[in-house]
This record gives sequence, structure tokens and C-alpha cells, in this order.
Amino acid sequence: MSLPGRGLAKGLAVTLRTMTRRTVTQQYPETPPELVPRSRGVIALFEENCTVCMLCARECPDWCIYIDSHKETVPAAAPGGRERSRNVLDRFAIDFSLCMYCGICVEVCPFDALFWSPEFEYAEEDIRDLVHERDRLREWMWTVPAPPALDPRAEEPKEVAAARRTADKLAAAQAAQAAEAERAAQEQAAQGRDAQGRDAAEQPRDGEAGA
Ligand code: SF4
Ligand code: SF4
Repeated sequence: MSLPGRGLAKGLAVTLRTMTRRTVTQQYPETPPELVPRSRGVIALFEENCTVCMLCARECPDWCIYIDSHKETVPAAAPGGRERSRNVLDRFAIDFSLCMYCGICVEVCPFDALFWSPEFEYAEEDIRDLVHERDRLREWMWTVPAPPALDPRAEEPKEVAAARRTADKLAAAQAAQAAEAERAAQEQAAQGRDAQGRDAAEQPRDGEAGA
């Protein structure tokens, strides 16, 4: 059974603790605030990864992502193959005067083309300037913090494993090429020595013939 007034006493204790806590004023803008790395400041676009799938624009609850694109035909990779068509990005913009920083677009992007940056100093005098076009969204990429290190016991990510396999194959091919070049150089040098040896062996005979 709870004592009467216990809740009130607990509330007062919290109030007293807060009242007596030392206040700290952050001297912004002289001292930049210490933000947590995953702060939602602004959205950055890594447009090389964007396939114009439109998922982010469709899922955005505020309809503040504007994407324009056109189709291009890619010739067949091999003779007899089929031509393919692909989307080419013409415009990618986010209106930060409408954005509510919910993060849905970043979450749904299947190709890792959108990232959060902790940058927040982009206030504008004209609200229309809060529409960030693709160049500006691309610039924000340089302010995106590196992802945290993986747990040492975690499985190697598929992308990293694939990249490592490709790098290993490339290194093996380069090593084989270098070994082949060295073998060819040694053979050439050996042939050169043989030719010199033959010349040297023939020279006395030439001398004898002259005598
Ligand atoms: S954070 Fe939310 S509101 Fe802002 S652009 Fe992305 S989906 Fe739209
Ligand atoms: S969801 Fe990702 S890949 Fe698709 S259009 Fe948006 S940014 Fe581009």
C-alpha cells in the first residue's frame, strides 16, 4: 500500500534536485554545441548511389522531395545482347521548410543514397532558399560522420566481403602479370647472354681464318 502524498514528495524531490543543479550555458555560436553523431541536422545525397527508384519521394509524409529524371538506352554489353534502359537523375531537391526530419526517406532508401548529417546551420532569410538542390545536398555528404565501428563479433558485411574478394582477385592478377613480365625479362636476358657467348666463341675462329 502506498503512503498518501508519496507521489507528491517524489515530485518535489525531483523539483528540488533540478533547482539546485548547476546550470551550464553553452556559448553558441562562439562555442559549437557538442552534438551526438546521429543528430538529424540535414539530409545529404550521395547521388552516385541513387537509382531514381522514387521510393523516398513516395514515402515522404510531407511530399517535400522533388525528383525529375529521364530514361536512357544503354547498348547491349555483348554482341547479340539486349539493350537496356536506365533512369538518369535530372533533379533531386528537398524542401527543408516542409521537412519534419522524420527520417523515413533515409530509412527507406534501398541503395544507401541518403544520409543524416549533424550540420544545422543553414537558416535562410528567404524561405525559398530552404529548397536544397542536388548540388547542395551532395555537398552535405562531406559532413556525414563515418559509421561507427562494427562489433568485433559481428559478421563481415556482404558488401565488404565482396569488395575484399574483388581486391584479392585484382592483387592476384597483378602479381601473376608481374611474375610473367619478370620471367619474360629473364628469358630475354638469357637469350642475350647466349648470343654473346656464341659471338665470343666465333671470334677466335675468325682470327684464325684471318691468320
Ligand atoms: S525526413 Fe521525412 S519529411 Fe523530411 S524529406 Fe525525409 S521523409 Fe520527408
Ligand atoms: S529512395 Fe534512394 S535510390 Fe530511390 S530515389 Fe530516393 S534517394 Fe534515390
